Amino acid sequence: EIELNGPNVGIFVIGIIMIVGLACALVILFRNLLVQRKLTGLYDNFIANITHELKSPLSSIQLYLETLTSKKLSAEKQNEFYAIMAKDTTRLHKLINSILEVSRLEQKRVAHNFHIYDADNIFHQIIDNSIKHFNLPDGVVKTEGFTKSQCVIDKEAMQIVFDNFTDNAVKYTPGNVKINIRLKTSLKKIVIEFADKGIGIGQIDQKTIFDKFHRVSNKAIPNVKGTGLGLYWVKEIIRLHGGKVTVRSDGMNKGTTFIIELPIYKT
Ligand code: ADP
Repeated sequence: EIELNGPNVGIFVIGIIMIVGLACALVILFRNLLVQRKLTGLYDNFIANITHELKSPLSSIQLYLETLTSKKLSAEKQNEFYAIMAKDTTRLHKLINSILEVSRLEQKRVAHNFHIYDADNIFHQIIDNSIKHFNLPDGVVKTEGFTKSQCVIDKEAMQIVFDNFTDNAVKYTPGNVKINIRLKTSLKKIVIEFADKGIGIGQIDQKTIFDKFHRVSNKAIPNVKGTGLGLYWVKEIIRLHGGKVTVRSDGMNKGTTFIIELPIYKT
């Protein structure tokens, strides 16, 4: 029989503490292993995507180059091939750039260029630039609302955010792209809503799409190319602005709305 007094209590308590400690250590170890495994899986996926993304424009360029050197083609055909090759080169350039930029951002090696702007003015400029970058016809992007506030932003970084949203709206809308952007001020924030009418995002995926390398895997979703870096990049940029980015979607085929909240600059 153990008497729970004197030195026995001490040993008992130490025993319990050790068991609890060991259990905690095991739980932490197990959780870390799970996280690590999930990350490794995502990373493998990323490598597979990136390899495909690099290989396909490269093979295309190679094919056109070979055709151009081995066959006698009309000037018209030659120009057509050069145009395709230029487009593939831009695609490669953009992809490599985005990978480099994200890793520079993570290593805090990006020189930021923050300035005070009239929010209404600067966001209309940025939206117009995105329309140009993606050659969107008139009427695709509708902008409404206004804000009289000022904000402090890095113009180039914010352009990346809107270009990513626009790129995704185009990629994840099967038919005609429609983008509605709304600017407003609420309490102490500038709020920008960026809505498309595309395939939408299910509740569960809404929680993970901003994570690095995350892509939605769903057989119903058309096989669209990507790296899963875009929204992670967006989130990091908005965070650097002291803001917040969230997503809202009523589900599959109900469209997607991204909401950016930024602090108002007060003079
Ligand atoms: P990528 O587009 O390269 O896969 P992103 O980080 O930009 O990577 O997006 C992550 C995932 O979020 C995408 O793979 C896609 O499944 C989903 N997603 C992003 N934007 C939209 C959108 N506008 N509509 C539907 N799904 C989207």
